[in-house]
Amino acid sequence: MSELKIYNTLTREKEIFKPLNAPHVGMYVCGPTLYSHAHLGNCRTFLSFDVVFRYLKHLDYKVRYVRNITDVGHLESDGDEGEDKIAKRARLEKLEPMEIVQLYAVDFHKVLDDFNLLPPSIEPTASGHIIEQIEMTKKIIDNGWAYEVDGTIWFDVEKFAATYPYTELSGRKLDELLEGTRENLEGQNEKRGRLDFALWKKAKPEHIMRWPSPWGEGFPGWHIECSAMSSKYLGEQFDIHGGGMDLAPTHHTNEIAQNVACCKKSPAKTWIHTNMLTVNGQKMSKSLDNSFLPEQLFTGNHPLLETGYSPMVVRFFMLQAHYRSTLDFSNTALQASEKGYQRLMNAMKLIAGLKTSEKSSVKIETLKTDIYNALNDDFNTPVAIASLFEGARIINSINDGSDTITAADKEQLQKLFSDIVFDVLGLKEETGAGSDKVEGLMNLILELRKDVRTKKDFAASDKIRDELLKVGIQVKDGKDGITWTSN
Ligand code: AMP
Ligand code: ZN
Repeated sequence: MSELKIYNTLTREKEIFKPLNAPHVGMYVCGPTLYSHAHLGNCRTFLSFDVVFRYLKHLDYKVRYVRNITDVGHLESDGDEGEDKIAKRARLEKLEPMEIVQLYAVDFHKVLDDFNLLPPSIEPTASGHIIEQIEMTKKIIDNGWAYEVDGTIWFDVEKFAATYPYTELSGRKLDELLEGTRENLEGQNEKRGRLDFALWKKAKPEHIMRWPSPWGEGFPGWHIECSAMSSKYLGEQFDIHGGGMDLAPTHHTNEIAQNVACCKKSPAKTWIHTNMLTVNGQKMSKSLDNSFLPEQLFTGNHPLLETGYSPMVVRFFMLQAHYRSTLDFSNTALQASEKGYQRLMNAMKLIAGLKTSEKSSVKIETLKTDIYNALNDDFNTPVAIASLFEGARIINSINDGSDTITAADKEQLQKLFSDIVFDVLGLKEETGAGSDKVEGLMNLILELRKDVRTKKDFAASDKIRDELLKVGIQVKDGKDGITWTSN
């Protein structure tokens, strides 16, 4: 089988994955800023890393997956201007900042659970690591890469860039960055260089979230939290750092600079960046008013939605695009994914009941190789899913007697599907509210239908089938029994 290759944003190449300390793998992913509900775009990013996490575990690596929660320091501008996003929300809603964080953290976890994401191994918060952030800032100052102006600590980007590569991740030129930055922004004219960013900010009197520090009362900058928490839990150098593509040019660029300035080490060997979920070609974003919440997606309660889609259908929809490609939301695409997901689940239900023969007319080994080759090629889920559909076709043709399978091959097929569909892709049979009840009711209805058929009351049997069809449930009388699907 092929080796796992991952596209590294830092080197712009697909590289064979070799952990620094196999079988242990350290992975850090920038988590959400919890000042409002996570939208579907955010979910796409975390879902992409869920597949990375699941696949590495499937390959028997012992993965420590750290995904932080930003609960302080993320300002409205995503830079050093504006109010803290969480503090602003707290002010508007007349709540404590930590009440805001708690409210949206509960919601965030519920949504990710609906999408069947595994929880990370550690989920540290920025506010829980103020000491570590102050310590790191002190080291950066001691090493000569940051300076204080009136209680605020600035990272000296131009000085740093004269010694170390600063724009490696974005691939942009420092001059371009300098040109693109406005001068003398409000409250920032005390910094030396236009690109300098705050490691620690002095808190104005009205600022609610504040901590004592060697430089007076203040709060940490947004970028330093990830440097401090990743090195605390994964060491100064670890295997994978990830996040959405939009974080690479600034947040991640500054993270690398901070780690190098502190410890002379670039934090991660491999940088993985996921692409955006778009709506009509535009990035889904709260500020563009084109985002909707997973809850709205499930219920269909949004002008952009023709109907509701279940969490697993949405998960399947997202998996049908490669994580480095944009994925455009559309009802047509989701409806196609719904059919595809059902097709796969129906095939899976058939595997256990397949009759075995002396000989196989199908090639399970080839199927397996194709699927692993796809996943090893930078987690190419759409190609792996195309092979799973080929597998579903094989299962159906064995089921209808056109093909044959040996007991050993059947066992292999069953394991392959269960490993890939459930463990790696993280799909599951829908277990949303009431679906266990639906399963129970369907079993009862089909049992009763069997009874009336035994009594040759075909009119009653057809009535049950037709009425079920009216509510979107299709009953199929196959050679090997009765199956049903719902759309
Ligand atoms: P935020 O809470 O805004 O810091 O975002 C959390 C994560 O979601 C970050 O990794 C972003 O890159 C990512 N993200 C934001 N919008 C989208 C989108 N439309 N599609 C995919 N990922 C997104
Ligand atoms: Zn981060």
